[in-house]
Amino acid sequence: MDALNELKLEQQLRGAAKKPPEYQWTQTDLNEAWRKITAPILGLMESLANLPDSVEIVGANQRILPRELTDLATMSPKELLELCGQLREVWTALAALADQQKKLVRGKAQDILQTWWESYPLADGPHWNVYYQTGTFFPTHRNYRALIARVCFDNRDFLGRCGNLECKDKPYFIKPRRNSKFCKGCRRYDALQRVKKSQAKKRQSARKGKGRA
Ligand SMILES: [Zn+2]
Repeated sequence: MDALNELKLEQQLRGAAKKPPEYQWTQTDLNEAWRKITAPILGLMESLANLPDSVEIVGANQRILPRELTDLATMSPKELLELCGQLREVWTALAALADQQKKLVRGKAQDILQTWWESYPLADGPHWNVYYQTGTFFPTHRNYRALIARVCFDNRDFLGRCGNLECKDKPYFIKPRRNSKFCKGCRRYDALQRVKKSQAKKRQSARKGKGRA
């Protein structure tokens, strides 16, 4: 889970929290905070989605997470395994919706997103920062399901499924561009397939040419 080691979230949140604690954050402030944490959370999501479906491996990766930083480290390995499976499900559904340019999330993905948001009741406390004067709220680092839910939803255009069906690198990848089709490791594979295709085409037209002669 290399992306986790590079997790800049804590830093970003600390930076954003320089204002005095009694400061009532407005939606504009919070949008900026969401923008800042998007890249590190996308990196984290990519790592989680590509973990194998094994409680031992997920547990081993979980142990490198700093416990004070995130509830991903303090939930049971079984819970984290379940979250990884849910993430793959939501990822696949949102990626398909983005391809069809549809906005409404329905079915299982909708249910999962809802359970992520409702993991903890919305009250000022360890899981939410609620700013009553401005009517705004923000999940804390002890509420990663909500952080992931929002980042997933906002970045659905960039949640990619690798076009190489035998992808061993990152079947779930963050698309550098909306029309990216392959993870970084498989881009070479794609280039090779194109070369093969064009060579086959050339051979075919050469054969046709011969047939006419
Ligand atoms: Zn791939």
